[in-house]
Amino acid sequence: MGDSYYSRNKEKVLSQQKEYLSKNKEKRYAYLKRRRTAIRLKNLKVKTEPSKTSKTWDKLMFGGLREIAIQRDNEQCVECKLTRKEHWELYGSDITVNHINGKGRSHKKPDNRLENLETLCLSCHGRKDSQRARHVIKKKGAK
Ligand SMILES: [Zn+2]
Repeated sequence: MGDSYYSRNKEKVLSQQKEYLSKNKEKRYAYLKRRRTAIRLKNLKVKTEPSKTSKTWDKLMFGGLREIAIQRDNEQCVECKLTRKEHWELYGSDITVNHINGKGRSHKKPDNRLENLETLCLSCHGRKDSQRARHVIKKKGAK
């Protein structure tokens, strides 16, 4: 039964299959190309410094003191002592600088004094930010 359908439409079925495969091939090729480009860009980003370490970013976020703060802290997280180099290897990004009193760029009066800056790894930075958020909520709730 099925056999006769196939033999009757052999040419048609085969050409449909061929068309499907060639379309799929194009799709697959486009996908692979996109993926390769993404990987290339990612590698490029890791090799060259990401834009977040640029002078403009530094000026905007830390009053131009970001790099100075990192150097003062011997290029390592002040909490867990993870080094800048290890940070690059672990997270694929530069070590971060924290505003100790929370007055960063989002604050209406950012406090970019060097003594208000500390070098932190992403993990310790995240922990401090969430601690601060809880603290702020508590304070607001008390009032
Ligand atoms: Zn740390």
